[in-house]
Amino acid sequence: MKTTTLPRPPRVGLVSLGCPKALVDSERIITKLRGDGYQMSPDYAGADVVLVNTCGFLDSAKAESLEAIGEAIAENGRVVVTGCMGRDAEIIRERFPDVLAVTGPQQYEEVVAAVHEAAPPSASPFIDLVPEAGLKLTPRHYSYLKISEGCNHRCAFCIIPHLRGDLVSRRPDAILREAEKLFEAGTKELLVISQDTSAYGLDLKHAAWNWRGHEVRAHMTDLARELGSLGAWVRLHYVYPYPHVDSVIPLMAEGLVLPYLDIPFQHASPKILRAMKRPANDAKVLQRIREWRAQAPDLAIRSSFVVGFPGETEEDFEYLLNWLEEAQLDRVGCFRFEPVEGAPATSMEDQVADEVKADRFDRVMALSARISADKLAAKVGKTLDVLIDVVDAETGGATGRSKADAPEIDGEVHLRDASELRAGDIVSVLIEDSDAHDLYGVAV
Ligand code: SF4
Repeated sequence: MKTTTLPRPPRVGLVSLGCPKALVDSERIITKLRGDGYQMSPDYAGADVVLVNTCGFLDSAKAESLEAIGEAIAENGRVVVTGCMGRDAEIIRERFPDVLAVTGPQQYEEVVAAVHEAAPPSASPFIDLVPEAGLKLTPRHYSYLKISEGCNHRCAFCIIPHLRGDLVSRRPDAILREAEKLFEAGTKELLVISQDTSAYGLDLKHAAWNWRGHEVRAHMTDLARELGSLGAWVRLHYVYPYPHVDSVIPLMAEGLVLPYLDIPFQHASPKILRAMKRPANDAKVLQRIREWRAQAPDLAIRSSFVVGFPGETEEDFEYLLNWLEEAQLDRVGCFRFEPVEGAPATSMEDQVADEVKADRFDRVMALSARISADKLAAKVGKTLDVLIDVVDAETGGATGRSKADAPEIDGEVHLRDASELRAGDIVSVLIEDSDAHDLYGVAV
């Protein structure tokens, strides 16, 4: 009998840099490529083409992206570049003339076409069935859910609107369909992401769509309620404190949505917030935080701050420290202001010296570590629901997260004697100890 050797399917290597939004783009691209018969290569050597999804948010991220492109060229030679830095095609081409193609963010069709050209799909590919929920780069039990692209604001330190354009929201029924598929495929936690979650649906004039026999508006509150009814944990990221955020708090109190808000405040001083051109710059925000906590006492608030923004005086900085002391945020990230090419703040007067930025950064981190340590110490003796991320077969321990902890950015809960658990389990954990960022306990 004559046997036919089917051609080997082409293989794609992937280097995915940047934020969760870029990760979701990578997932979409590889889902499409797998559907076209491509296989993924875990290393450079086995790849017919390497796709580098770049980040262009800060100059340091651009440098990292260029380094990744250089490494892929050196190790493999056949490289397609996509993502935020794709907007800087000339810089990439000048430095790496051998790059096969450069496409920008969200140009899914263009990047897939570039891969097709670089390594054509085989005539009779072994097409692995792509799971209906698409392919994910995060573990199966949590998924990022992107609800919109772009941003209508023009914060002085940011070039995202330049890179990604104005706000374009997805239809609520499309988001809910994706969320449902992810939930059916084993997702236990949906992480809602965008550049500005509170602005969701503004561009759609908050119109309503039919979903399972009832109307759902393209609005953060409606969407949060519907997502919450699926049965997964729902965590809201990048929420600006617009007035309607108050209407999400009751959903948290009801247990539909996790009592967690990721609000990128960036500063507290009204003068600096004005100079930053931040949206929802609300002088009464401390009062609102108190009201939110009265309604949802377990509410965890995470935020990030920029120190050393041009014009930030010691007085402005101390305003921030006092504000942080009062706000008692659960998790705080801090960045030293970094000039980004194309951002208005880069050419502002009164740039702050690097040593001053470093000193202010240390002071914010020390204060937030103290607040975090106190807040975590208050959880010792309590029993918390924990979603298990990893079980360590060697030590018999496991690592997971409580409702107050988002993956990658917040703290963790370390469990002892947990070898019978599996990633994706949600278990009750008695908290036995704490430190500045993490909790320690045992499943009960
Ligand atoms: S809200 Fe401001 S910082 Fe955030 S993406 Fe929009 S412009 Fe950038």
